[in-house]
Amino acid sequence: MNSAASGEVPRLFGRQVGRSLILGWLVLLCSALAACGPTPAPQIEITGPTMGTYYAVKVVQPAAGLDTAALRAGVEQVLAAVIAEISTYEPESELSRLNRNPSTDWVPVSANLYRVIAAGQRISALSGGAFDVTVGPLVNLWGFGPEERLDAVPAPEQVRAALERVGYGKLELRADPPALRKQRGDIYIDLSALGEGYGADRLAAYLDGLGATNYMAAVAGTMRVRGTNAKRQPWGIAVEQPTPGQQAVQRILPVTDQAVSTSGDYRNFFEADGRRFSHHIDPKTGAPVAQRLASTTVIRPAGADSAMMADGFATALLVLGEQRGPALAESEILAAYFIIRDDAGFREQTSTAFERLHAP
Ligand code: ADP
Ligand code: MG
Repeated sequence: MNSAASGEVPRLFGRQVGRSLILGWLVLLCSALAACGPTPAPQIEITGPTMGTYYAVKVVQPAAGLDTAALRAGVEQVLAAVIAEISTYEPESELSRLNRNPSTDWVPVSANLYRVIAAGQRISALSGGAFDVTVGPLVNLWGFGPEERLDAVPAPEQVRAALERVGYGKLELRADPPALRKQRGDIYIDLSALGEGYGADRLAAYLDGLGATNYMAAVAGTMRVRGTNAKRQPWGIAVEQPTPGQQAVQRILPVTDQAVSTSGDYRNFFEADGRRFSHHIDPKTGAPVAQRLASTTVIRPAGADSAMMADGFATALLVLGEQRGPALAESEILAAYFIIRDDAGFREQTSTAFERLHAP
């Protein structure tokens, strides 16, 4: 069973998220830290479907001439461009064509696709392979890819066969001119763990280009924020309690000029044989990670690829689990916030960099 409402959301990319969940989350986002204060500044805001989930953009004190319709048109154009580059849900995207290409020679790729894959390779190396963009065959085998969802545990020999195709070391990158070489023709790259962040970064670049200085640009649980909200206060980002099918806030994080991404195991999963299988796959075992770490949130200073890196690291920390995740957050000086299941419900854990950020 998928925790999200199925059917009503087009699956273009990544996971599905129920409309009510996201809208509820947005309401929280809007009201967070905005309960009091001076008269609100003018703001335009839009939301809509993208990548199998939702985007949300707010621009405070928009420039003259920027209205809701113009913003929507601009934002949707940016997101369509992102999908055309890196979505495995769009058969004619550059990535889908690359995945179908059986060549083991150097294949030229666009600078943008290169950038996203290279970010993935960096996170793979830093996480010792817990994060791996070549995990696609396993993601698809377990039913979390673009193909039909089976909600069933695959046979061990199928997992073994898929594992042979997985390994970030089987992918070589060349920066100039951007190109990629597969060690096996059947390598299949899945950029879903970076896509929301890459989308948020592209939206932020678009908004910067419009001269916006106070905005929030989110693709599902990954976002870029700049400046302040309509109440002239830091943006409040609600981190959900990791309870499937429910909507409760665990903590509200005040952020400004930052990228934030939350990864969780409580939205996209299925249940079989009394067990829950979530969409985070351990590339070592070939199976979904099963553990107590339920949610990871990573915050980075805003910058060119900050949401993409926050997105990828949030997934990497989740795959690494409650021991190795926090250890990587310390060694990489990542501002990270963890929610871990325990007998009493949930407990929180934070990295040193996170504590520094939120020091009074
Ligand atoms: P979350 O925010 O919950 O981490 P994402 O969409 O960012 O969700 O990432 C999960 C997606 O990443 C999965 O649906 C799958 O496509 C892909 N994925 C799963 N396991 C891994 C992994 N070990 N490394 C990289 N990508 C993964
Ligand atoms: Mg992610």
